Parts: sequence; structure tokens; C-alpha cells
Amino acid sequence: SQERKRKKVGSSDLTFNEIGGQDSAKQELIEALDFMVRHEEIKKFGIRPIKGILLTGPPGTGKTLMAKAAAQYTNAVFVAASGSEFVEMYVGVGASRIRDLFKEARTRAAKEKKDNAVIFIDEIDVIGGKREGGQQREYDQTLNQLLTEMDGIFTSETPRILLIAATNRKEMLDSALLRPGRFDRHIQVDLPDKKGRRHILELHAKNKPLSSEVSLDKVAEESYGFSGAQLESVMNEAAIYAMRDGSGEISQRHLSMAIDKVMMGEKTDRQSTE
Ligand code: ATP
Repeated sequence: SQERKRKKVGSSDLTFNEIGGQDSAKQELIEALDFMVRHEEIKKFGIRPIKGILLTGPPGTGKTLMAKAAAQYTNAVFVAASGSEFVEMYVGVGASRIRDLFKEARTRAAKEKKDNAVIFIDEIDVIGGKREGGQQREYDQTLNQLLTEMDGIFTSETPRILLIAATNRKEMLDSALLRPGRFDRHIQVDLPDKKGRRHILELHAKNKPLSSEVSLDKVAEESYGFSGAQLESVMNEAAIYAMRDGSGEISQRHLSMAIDKVMMGEKTDRQSTE
């Protein structure tokens, strides 16, 4: 658990340059961050501050990377959790974990003398799902605690807490989370287009021996519909093929085989859950 914690907490050094494609999502996020750090002016103009940013879109498109880059960009400490971590058998445990998460962000920012703290909650839909007729009482408490913490974020106070959440299922979210003053900035992080796929492939090819005959354009074309996470797998699998057959570098054929493998892997995954 200590090990897991260490991975999830820290000052992020990932920059927006290491995220492929997603040009408009990156731009929207940077605009929101630039706005948020101008708290003096925001106050002067009586503008309602942004407290939460919601990243929506399919799995593996780089939402976590975006949150990390946001922390780097605002020179903030980065504290992350996943919605599923708050689901517990005992009533109140989820709520107290939410409290701890915010406390941890404040303590760490103070310790590291940082003015900002980014709290990232992945799979927010797990705790922030629609509250319907008496069910899911435990979740209710957790969600209520999150709403309370959000209402308690004063942007003029340090550390300034910047809450970023991610979901693949925005339509499932309770409307209380989406109200003004809560997660009222939504940024769509979609599957990359061909240019985006090429960019992502380039980033993941950086530390790999690529044969000069390789056309990443062609790989981008053949990997239509792939997410960033799948493209990362393609590069990795291709490198494994190249290493295995002793060819010394990654060829176009290795990449085509890797695309097939990743595609097949997805298919078998899907079949086994059906
Ligand atoms: P999930 O919804 O499953 O949590 P996510 O959208 O948060 O997914 P990430 O965790 O950010 O996705 O991405 C997983 C991995 O896939 C990254 O660590 C990275 O290796 C790769 N990846 C995904 N998107 C991109 C991208 N746009 N640029 C570069 N790498 C990417």
C-alpha cells in the first residue's frame, strides 16, 4: 500500500509536450489553468472561480497524463485517487478517505512550500453517480463529503486546490457535481485522429531503435480507432517482436504484427466479459 501511495503522490514532472495529439483538450485545459492562477483579478472582478475541471472521454486517451501535466504547469503538488478506492463496505469510510485526500494535498503543499495542489480523482462516476431513491447510501455520504470539500475550496487561500476528475461516463454523474461552482468546466478528451496517433507513436518511439524504413504515418493509418494507451502497447509489442527475432531494430512488419496483436487482445478481452 505504501508502494502504491508513493506512485500516486508526488510532484509531477510530466509536461504537456509529452502528451500526443489532444491539441484542443490541451489548449482548453491550459486556458482554464491560466485563468485559475489569476486569483487576484478573479476576485477583483467578482468572477466565480473554477473549482473543478472534469475530463471526459474513452479509457486510455491521456486523462491522467493531462492531470499530471496540469500539476507540473501550475507548479503544484499532485495527489491522485481513483473513485473505486472510496467504495467500502463500512459506512463513513469513503467519506473519511475523501477528507484525508484533501488534507494530504494541503499538508504536502505546505511541506513542499507550494502554492498550488492538484487533486486528481479518476473514475469519479463510481462515487459521483446519480443518487436515486435511497439506494447506495454509503456512496451518498462519500459524494456529500466531496461536495462539502469542494464548497470549502477558497481560491484565495494557499494552497489553492485544483480538483480534476475524470470519467468515461459523464451521463452517469449526479447533477450536484455538475452545478456552477463544482465541476463546471468540462473538457472532452477523445480518441486521437490520425495526426494525433502519429504524434503519440512518435513520443513512444523516442527511446526505441526504429528502422529507417518505418513509416509512422502508415502505422497511424493502420491503427484507426486506437487510444493512446493502445498505441503505447503497439510500440512496446513491436519492440518485443524485434528483440525476439534478433533483428536489432523495429521494422514496419513488427509494427503491423503489433497492431494485429493489440487489436486481437482487445477482441478477446471484450469476448471474455460478454
Ligand atoms: P483511463 O480512463 O483508463 O484512466 P486515461 O485517459 O487516464 O485512461 P492515461 O492513464 O492517461 O489514460 O493513459 C494511459 C497510458 O497510455 C499513458 O501512461 C501513456 O503511456 C499512454 N497514452 C495515453 N494517451 C496518450 C497521449 N495522448 N499521448 C501519449 N501517451 C498516451
